[in-house]
Amino acid sequence: MNGVMRFLVACVLYVISCTVAYGKATPNLSQKQWFAGSKECELDTRPSMEVLEFNLTTYIIRQSKCVHYEAPFIYLLLGDRKALLLDTGATTSAKLFPLARTVQMIIQQHLIRIKRQPKDYALHVLHSHSHNDHIAADSQFYGVEGVSVVPPHQLTVLQKTLQLSDWPNSVSVFKLGGRNISVIPTPGHQREAISLYDDQTQWLLTGDTFYPGRLYIRDWLTFKSSIARLVAFSEMNPVSAILGAHIEMSACAKKDYPSGSVYHPNEASLVLTTKDLQLLHRQLTIMGLKPQQVRMDKFIIFPLI
Ligand SMILES: [Zn+2]
Repeated sequence: MNGVMRFLVACVLYVISCTVAYGKATPNLSQKQWFAGSKECELDTRPSMEVLEFNLTTYIIRQSKCVHYEAPFIYLLLGDRKALLLDTGATTSAKLFPLARTVQMIIQQHLIRIKRQPKDYALHVLHSHSHNDHIAADSQFYGVEGVSVVPPHQLTVLQKTLQLSDWPNSVSVFKLGGRNISVIPTPGHQREAISLYDDQTQWLLTGDTFYPGRLYIRDWLTFKSSIARLVAFSEMNPVSAILGAHIEMSACAKKDYPSGSVYHPNEASLVLTTKDLQLLHRQLTIMGLKPQQVRMDKFIIFPLI
């Protein structure tokens, strides 16, 4: 590459890196340390989102804590015919948080790689649940050709779209082309909560139902049943990692950050395991019908009752 070409490539990379921080495949996701915000967000110049290319067809996007303290995780799974985006984050503004542009750029690269035309490819936007910190950038996808957004807050539409007739007991399969995503209803944190299982990575994506943080439970018995079903599912299917939508625990056992904090030094790993899920299930079983707050090493059971 000559000097001029090197300069042009460097310019392009610089422009891209101004808004989005890209990370290459991580051999061990459990060791990954994410951008964890800043004590002085007003002085922070880091990008509004961190994009981790786990592999060529799997991306994890984390919103910066300096853009929104919730700093949710968003998952993009690419198949041969369709892509699935799980959640859209906590910020509506495309200027502050250019999610749709970032996702479209990744999909364009994918289509070049698999030699497919955009007209033959679709993006489906789903939500782990309908709380604002997971649906805020939906509007960036409205009206975009080839994109469908499952509307939040509409349980019957969700059930129909995902063919979950026996809610919450049935499991459906969403086919992306060479990649199947199982959809598991997991209400309890919220009425429309679902978890996804990706047969390519063997990840179980659990949204706010199970993650390293405060497990806010609105409906105690429904939540317990959902966790029992997740345990049963994980016993029938190989699970390499359980990935939720936030990190609120520090790497020190039992210690969480204050709610609303924009700085998380020494965060816990995003990755939870089936052993952690079984531990939650056992603890919920011991507690029976009586909701109570219990602080575990990697998460906190947090009934809102
Ligand atoms: Zn959330």
